[in-house]
Amino acid sequence: MGTDRDDPRPGAAAGPAGTAVGTAVGTGWKFLARSVRRQAPHLTAPPPGGQGLCAACRIPVRPGNVRCYQCGQHAETLPGLLADVVVPICYAAKGGEHARNLWLYKSARPGAGQAQAALRALLIVFLRDHGPCVWGSAGITGPSCLAVVPSGRGRAGPHPLRALAGPCLALPWASLDPRLRDEPCTRDLDADRFRAAPAAGADVALLDDTWTTGASAQSACAALRLAGARSVAVIVLGRHLSAPGPGAAAARVTGAAAARAAAAMPFRPWLCAVHARAGEDGQ
Ligand SMILES: [Zn+2]
Ligand SMILES: [Zn+2]
Repeated sequence: MGTDRDDPRPGAAAGPAGTAVGTAVGTGWKFLARSVRRQAPHLTAPPPGGQGLCAACRIPVRPGNVRCYQCGQHAETLPGLLADVVVPICYAAKGGEHARNLWLYKSARPGAGQAQAALRALLIVFLRDHGPCVWGSAGITGPSCLAVVPSGRGRAGPHPLRALAGPCLALPWASLDPRLRDEPCTRDLDADRFRAAPAAGADVALLDDTWTTGASAQSACAALRLAGARSVAVIVLGRHLSAPGPGAAAARVTGAAAARAAAAMPFRPWLCAVHARAGEDGQ
């Protein structure tokens, strides 16, 4: 192959296709790659090809369905304002280590630092290795800026995901804030939920930690598009999976059966959900 994934050099970070990973990582690649290798056996992820997966959020769907129930609703509600592509790096099964890290990293509890390190490694190594896959899928050569889906809780300071990854990323950040800071956390898709600074012609890489219904991330996409963004590619650390609750019948499609199906899809660091060479299984 001519490249050594275990010993990436800083110069490889930016890459010809603009992977958006800055030189700040320096000689830390080896450490990051080791963390990903350690996590990989415990992770699951959508494979490339998309067969049997929601075209938007990549959760397993019933045969014949193009999208899951929620993504179908979103497409009907805000056509033309949603993400060009959504790429979950991993699934986050309720009760699993990855889901625990995604909860823990924002807290002040013991283990938060370890969770941050694990998530940072997954995100930064993914952007380096599969950023070009994501950008290509969104029809761009690379993003012009980054953004993070606001948590909606109005906490002071930068979003924990930005604080975690920002020092490793070389692009400017687009401003994106909840329109009403005191409003209780909503789960609805709403183009007015967030306010983005003017972003005419921007190609945005929108980062999110957890995708549950997708309403937050897609509301953020809508805000960016209304602010003038040309394209929005969403990269999610964990596509949440849980057993079905006492909700609508349609929601059960994305419940236990999907979680079982997803549990059989191993995370393979050399592949991603939109990898061009679908089906490749080599290392
Ligand atoms: Zn979906
Ligand atoms: Zn890829």
